[in-house]
Amino acid sequence: MLTKAEYIWLDGSSPPQLRSKVKIIDLVEGQKPPIWGFDGSSTLQAEGSSSDCVLFPAFVCENSLEHSGILVLCEVLNTNLTAHKSNTRQECAKIAKIYEGHECWFGLEQEYTLMKYKRPMGWPLDDEPPPQGDYYCGNGAGLVAGREIVSEHLNACLDAGLQICGTNAEGMLGQWEFQVGALGPVEVSDQLWIARFLLQRIAEDYGVGVSYDAKPIEGDWNGSGCHTNFSTKKMRAEGGITECYKACEALEKNAELHIQNYGTGSERRLTGEHETCSYKEFRWGVSDRGASIRIPWQVAKEKRGYIEDRRPNADCDPYVVTRLITESTCKTK
Ligand code: ADP
Ligand code: MN
Ligand code: MN
Ligand code: MN
Repeated sequence: MLTKAEYIWLDGSSPPQLRSKVKIIDLVEGQKPPIWGFDGSSTLQAEGSSSDCVLFPAFVCENSLEHSGILVLCEVLNTNLTAHKSNTRQECAKIAKIYEGHECWFGLEQEYTLMKYKRPMGWPLDDEPPPQGDYYCGNGAGLVAGREIVSEHLNACLDAGLQICGTNAEGMLGQWEFQVGALGPVEVSDQLWIARFLLQRIAEDYGVGVSYDAKPIEGDWNGSGCHTNFSTKKMRAEGGITECYKACEALEKNAELHIQNYGTGSERRLTGEHETCSYKEFRWGVSDRGASIRIPWQVAKEKRGYIEDRRPNADCDPYVVTRLITESTCKTK
């Protein structure tokens, strides 16, 4: 059957950006879409003299933006079929496999800002709106902006079969969040990238851009993060709180490595203000939204569950973040 397949990949920029192009394929039921290629010299992935890069289908779902068709998230390979240096998925999959027995789960809270005329949606063009306080989970004109995009996005994710689990308006007018998970490291990352893709495409129809900048507006305004909630089988089991503490200690030991790989703009966002802990410090604590790692109150109460790494920035690459957390917490020295 002829199928419209939108091939999606991450380019060579830092942070990585989504690229895509459409191929009409004759897809046999139950078969994987074929490998394809692109001009890597236009995506910071190759020199013009040797520009071919390979698209290797990795995750496929319905294209909920079309009447029919599929989205094909790809790994980028070199022409000899080894992983391209921009391919962070393969390393994530490798680590996920090594620590499979720990049954790591991740839930990602993707914050973002909808942008129109280079301003957050709902902002006056030449001024700031009233200060923060009433926008988080707000309702009503003047208190939120862009809800039509947010609702369409939620439905598109559900229709594509993604495990999106919620959405809310955030602290700054025009800023929003959605959550994906809980799933394994590779699965949650594949789904987050597709969810970002759907968001960008839906907003595009409204002439609205999606900013994942860690601090879109300087001053007394919240930045955008990608809080990463994490648990292992042992952390979720009865009395798992001691395992949660151990995970916090393991993350403390590797704090610098993690911060360096948690997306861009940590110095602007992780200031110690606006519900963050300074990027220069590491603290963990129960219910503490000013900590690097928060242990949610229900987890402290039930003495089992998960921890929340609040440090990743909104533009982080989830393949990198989930790989590092898996490796740092599961490896035994
Ligand atoms: P917050 O109170 O920080 O805003 P949210 O409700 O936005 O929290 O997000 C909570 C996230 O935690 C969700 O993505 C959810 O999937 C995830 N989560 C819940 N339980 C677990 C668990 N046991 N392991 C990993 N992630 C989990
Ligand atoms: Mn949240
Ligand atoms: Mn949030
Ligand atoms: Mn959170």
